[in-house]
Amino acid sequence: MPEGPQTLKNRNMKPSFFDLTHDDLKVVLKEKGFSPFGATQIFDWVYRKWIFEPALWSNVSKGAREFLSEHYDMSLLKIVWNGLSKDGTRKFLVKMVDGQTVETVAIPARERLTLCVSSQVGCAVGCTFCHTATQGLKRHLKPGEVVGQYIAVQDWLNKNTLEEKLTNIVYMGQGEPLHNYENMKKATQIFMQENGLALGQRRITLSTSGLVPAIEKLATDFPTVNIAISLHSARNDVRTELMPINKVYDIERLFKAIKQIPLKAHRRITYEYLLAADINDTQEDVDALAKLLNPKESKINLIPFNEYPGSKYKRPTEQKIMWFLDQMIKKGFTCTIRTTKGTDILAACGQLKSEFEKVNLWNKDAGPVVIPSIASSVLQNQSQIPQ
Ligand code: SAH
Ligand code: SF4
Repeated sequence: MPEGPQTLKNRNMKPSFFDLTHDDLKVVLKEKGFSPFGATQIFDWVYRKWIFEPALWSNVSKGAREFLSEHYDMSLLKIVWNGLSKDGTRKFLVKMVDGQTVETVAIPARERLTLCVSSQVGCAVGCTFCHTATQGLKRHLKPGEVVGQYIAVQDWLNKNTLEEKLTNIVYMGQGEPLHNYENMKKATQIFMQENGLALGQRRITLSTSGLVPAIEKLATDFPTVNIAISLHSARNDVRTELMPINKVYDIERLFKAIKQIPLKAHRRITYEYLLAADINDTQEDVDALAKLLNPKESKINLIPFNEYPGSKYKRPTEQKIMWFLDQMIKKGFTCTIRTTKGTDILAACGQLKSEFEKVNLWNKDAGPVVIPSIASSVLQNQSQIPQ
């Protein structure tokens, strides 16, 4: 693809401050001869006081402030569009420095306000029911672009609402978080940093389609957070139809890996189960699911399929959904139905899709935007399983 002006500009871009964990910042400061303890004060200014201008960090040495403003980009991701659903769900389209966009959705529920963040632009896993999959993978998000979704949305809420505060995060937006393992690990460390946003381990949920080698590393290598597994069927043939990843990492391999996740820290694992009419909603499916899962160690979250234009599956009837729920409860499981939120603004699960072509319309002053190469969408719907 020929290089557009935006691509050239990015070459000279400074690294984002928001890519740095607390430990990274300590190393950077130390290397430049500043006190590494300054990292704690700087995290306090940025992530607690919400002051992004180094000149204003009064208890940080002048040299460190000048160094950071000169060498790091402190700017927030740009919200180029937002929409409010009738049910209170707010969808935001955020733009990265290279012009790519992802969606991030704030979902209110009881006393919580959960942000559903994206981990990649598009996704390579190619689940046959997922709208995001139709884009293929465009690229991984950097840690600062994941944390940046939270900062940009909270900043927007501070300015536009009466003190709405994000309380929880789910990695359930666009992308497969474990395919972007190292960046999501860093983003999680930043979210949880004690003297920063300090989100507790129960406030973050990582959802994965079942990337076995990465699941095997979670126990020892990733901050402890809630884990949700997109199971969608306990039968290999049906799961393969829904999720081509199952050809490589089938149910047996997946559960061997899940068993390595220490249950004490993670309490119970949530299994997401998409319900698609006449695909995985029969008595045989109920029995297979009950046989596979242990009710003491699992929670089941049923997600009735969200239809979108061109989708190949159908949502089961309400009666069928309730029947499935009832069957699982009778078999001793904690089972819930994920209420569909934000359908009127296409923000429900599986309806997230970057409408990057529209960025120019929404943001006329942003200059030329590099439209990603069509070549990347060749990945779409193929079993291009990340290793
Ligand atoms: N890639 C990760 C996280 C993002 S998807 C994963 O697959 O787990 C978040 C959840 O939405 C997953 O359980 C996914 O299977 C589900 N989902 C995707 N498309 C959907 C659709 N059209 N209707 C209902 N749920 C969907
Ligand atoms: Fe990717 Fe998750 Fe969509 Fe599957 S459901 S294509 S893993 S985003």
